[in-house]
Amino acid sequence: MVGSGVLLSKIATEAYNKGLSGLEFASGIPGTIGGAIRMNAGAYGSEFKDIVVSSKYLDKDLKLHEINNQEHEFQYRISRFSKNKNDIIVSTILQLKEQNKEQIKLKMEENKKSRIEKQPIEFPSAGSTFKRGKDYITAQLIDKCGLKGYNVGDAYVSEKHAGFIINKGNAKAKDVLCLVEYIKEKVYKEFNVNIELELEVLGED
Ligand SMILES: Cc1cc2nc3c(=O)[nH]c(=O)nc-3n(C[C@H](O)[C@H](O)[C@H](O)COP(=O)(O)OP(=O)(O)OC[C@H]3O[C@@H](n4cnc5c(N)ncnc54)[C@H](O)[C@@H]3O)c2cc1C
Repeated sequence: MVGSGVLLSKIATEAYNKGLSGLEFASGIPGTIGGAIRMNAGAYGSEFKDIVVSSKYLDKDLKLHEINNQEHEFQYRISRFSKNKNDIIVSTILQLKEQNKEQIKLKMEENKKSRIEKQPIEFPSAGSTFKRGKDYITAQLIDKCGLKGYNVGDAYVSEKHAGFIINKGNAKAKDVLCLVEYIKEKVYKEFNVNIELELEVLGED
């Protein structure tokens, strides 16, 4: 059982130390268990949906509930908590498998290497800007529109990975959102596809 405030990097390392496999995909995702369950965080072909057994949460009247995996209503980057915004995840039970520690370490290192090579983690960002489509890779469409390096103020489409908007200085939320709108328009004009934000917008200035 894991508390919702525990960092993914910490719990993945703890699992490795105990020779437990299943959290390798999450070791490089910045965030906590609560945020990761809420958005069914995933990477490298795995997601939280695959390892969650059950979670406890408090509703707005502070009543405690326990739900099983299916009741989380996990889908791509969403869960029941995406629509029930007043519910607070308190803890989660994850199912991991015993495995050779060397194999776990190897997988974590491969994932880390791939993240360093492919993602602009040297710059501040909010992660992947848009959701992946069912039959297209959004970053490839953005790239094909020639938008890598395009900017609004200090908000740039990363040269390294077109799916990321990075902050090269003092980008404000409004710069990022203006860039998002421009990208959406360009992709729609070019490919007739409405790409969908993965980011959650909390403020617009
Ligand atoms: C560089 C970078 C790389 C990333 N790579 C990936 C990736 O590979 N895969 C991926 O899936 N994501 C990726 N992300 C996104 C990342 O998963 C989310 O930013 C993170 O999971 C959010 O978790 P958090 O704990 O920071 O939550 P917050 O950002 O604090 O919150 C996110 C949402 O979850 C809700 N929430 C948080 N805790 C709880 C709780 N206890 N109960 C109920 N709701 C809660 C908040 O209200 C909010 O709506 C990346 C982000 C960055 C910046």
